[in-house]
Amino acid sequence: MDSKTNITYLKGIGPNRAELLNKELGIQTVGDLLQHYPTSYVDRSQVYKIADLHGADLPMVQIRGRFIAASTQGEGRRSRLVALFTDGTGLVEVVWFRNVQSMSRSLNPETTYVLFGKPTIYNGRWQLAHPEIDTEASAEIHKGLRGVYPLTEKLRNKGITSRQLHAWALTALATNLTIPEIIPTEIIQTYRLMSRSDAIRVIHNPPNMIELEKAKYRIKFEELFFLELNILRYGRNRKAALRGHCFTKVGNFFNRFYSECMPFELTNAQKRVIKEIRGDMNTGRQMNRLLQGDVGSGKTLVALLTMLIAIDNGTQACLMAPTEILAAQHFETISALAGQVGVNVKLLTGSTPKKQRDEIHAQLLEGSLHILIGTHAVIEDNVQFANLGYVVIDEQHRFGVAQRARLWQKAAIAPHVLVMTATPIPRTLAMTVYGDLDVSIIDELPPGRKPVTTLLRYDEGRQKVYEGIHQQLLEGRQAYIVYPLIDENEKLDLKSLENGFDIVSRLFEDFKVAMVHGRMKPAEKEKQMSRFVSGEAHILVATTVIEVGVNVPNATVMLIENAERFGLSQLHQLRGRVGRGADKSFCILMSKQEIGRDTRRRLEVMTSTTDGFIVAEEDMKLRGPGDIEGTMQSGLPIDLKMASLVTDTPILEQARHAAEQLLDADPNLSAHPSVRLTLSHLFDRTMDWARIS
Ligand code: ADP
Ligand code: MG
Repeated sequence: MDSKTNITYLKGIGPNRAELLNKELGIQTVGDLLQHYPTSYVDRSQVYKIADLHGADLPMVQIRGRFIAASTQGEGRRSRLVALFTDGTGLVEVVWFRNVQSMSRSLNPETTYVLFGKPTIYNGRWQLAHPEIDTEASAEIHKGLRGVYPLTEKLRNKGITSRQLHAWALTALATNLTIPEIIPTEIIQTYRLMSRSDAIRVIHNPPNMIELEKAKYRIKFEELFFLELNILRYGRNRKAALRGHCFTKVGNFFNRFYSECMPFELTNAQKRVIKEIRGDMNTGRQMNRLLQGDVGSGKTLVALLTMLIAIDNGTQACLMAPTEILAAQHFETISALAGQVGVNVKLLTGSTPKKQRDEIHAQLLEGSLHILIGTHAVIEDNVQFANLGYVVIDEQHRFGVAQRARLWQKAAIAPHVLVMTATPIPRTLAMTVYGDLDVSIIDELPPGRKPVTTLLRYDEGRQKVYEGIHQQLLEGRQAYIVYPLIDENEKLDLKSLENGFDIVSRLFEDFKVAMVHGRMKPAEKEKQMSRFVSGEAHILVATTVIEVGVNVPNATVMLIENAERFGLSQLHQLRGRVGRGADKSFCILMSKQEIGRDTRRRLEVMTSTTDGFIVAEEDMKLRGPGDIEGTMQSGLPIDLKMASLVTDTPILEQARHAAEQLLDADPNLSAHPSVRLTLSHLFDRTMDWARIS
């Protein structure tokens, strides 16, 4: 018998049950059955005295005693069996709502039983509903740690229990079943893993907690190891296949800029990241790198310095931003800096006049234009480069994969690509869904930043909040006031925003108020935004359209209305709009007073940290394994049976490391045929799920 043997070969599983197991749990083979792991374990090593049961939320407990009375109550479908059970120290009422007849026939007042279930208080007395019931002899078998196997309602109704699944797993393990090892010996040794065969036996029949933990570790490691192996192999293959520009030198533009024009010293994180990018650029392979850095961490300067390297190597560079305002801001910064060393920088957006546009096109073609900055206008068909070598994309999520792909077509050799994002991608995601990309992280803010003070306020404190804002405005600062989507009903939401605008305009009548929302025409939106960016308007009333990228260093207040309705990462992004200048900034979260526990925790995370990575990790925890697991898993090519992307990050890191080492030593896995075979069994679908191409 091996893992591919059909389960009908096991004692007690006939064609009907086999069909049911297949339909409900996808179990067809002995291997499937053994990989249907318990989701938790209960401890049946201890027998409780009824008199010792105390407290409200008791775990599953075991009691030993006899039934002293039993009667059927109620009629027909409502009927139930109620029995009294005692161990001499107290009484427990035991009820059955299903199998009433057969249960009442089988209970024997002479027999000592062991019951196992979760005690609750009912009518002032302990009650057990549908406990597991054993004779003393059969209880012996189930002593110790016992797995709780996931079931479906249908299986339960057909009388298939967790205990039954356990019994079948034991039956399978009791045959002369072979469970071959699939992880290479050297990895088993390095990571001190339990063998596969032992681990599966222990999972179904744990002798103790310590062995069980080792077994679980091994199984999780295995799942994550193959997941990582697959992703890494895909990334490496693609890299090997895509030829890229080889930027061999660092030349005059870079060197002169670096020695003469640097506005400030780079942070260590910026230095490290520039080295990583530089390292990629001279390999002859195309770079595909994700640059993560919290808002304000100085990604623009990294973009600029690496663009200078591209120019030094005789190619052109291009920087794309999601909106005209952002593109214009980048243009101002970069042309002022790079202009000093004679770099030719131009801005191209939808509103660039025809004459300038023609000039840009001409300069691009003859190669005299070094850096083109723009919105998606730069990927229009009539924009042709002489030699595009490097593309930087700011705030990736507004640029679709298809748009990016059009860039490739603009050059004979695919340009190097750097995608910059301020949205922290939790490590787990970076290692899995984005696992084929190289990731650089700026985990340090420039010195001297004053962290934004975040305050949580309720309606009763509103007056004080307005007074504070007023004070900031009087000092010449600016403020954002953000309204949430409340109803998913655009009309109503717009109304609440417009109401807010009216109130704010009246409250601060000496100041100018601009307003933006998602339903505005782009031109109107840009106009309102620029009123605020230029400082003409003092307050910007907005929906979350301002989330990404705007840089108004003079703004020191971010007031978020109904903050309880926002997600953590959104709140963090919004907060990132302030604290960009020399002045002390504030983020005020207005919330209703009655909020749920998770919502309160979210707001507390915001008031307790300004670190985007901590926020992202907390977000994952709060959204809960179910939710996150769902979204993350949907990005994965396989289902994980035991490992969790949310809670098993440390194991994931180990497994990734192991997979990297294996691929370094044996890139094609030619010395590891069983690993290859397992990989192809697990991942037979094509890898079309990579998020960034
Ligand atoms: P982001 O990563 O959010 O795009 P920016 O590149 O806009 O951040 O940088 C935010 C601010 O920090 C800018 O005003 C920039 O000039 C400044 N800055 C960037 N790097 C440094 C540094 N090493 N030291 C001091 N200030 C810096
Ligand atoms: Mg930026």
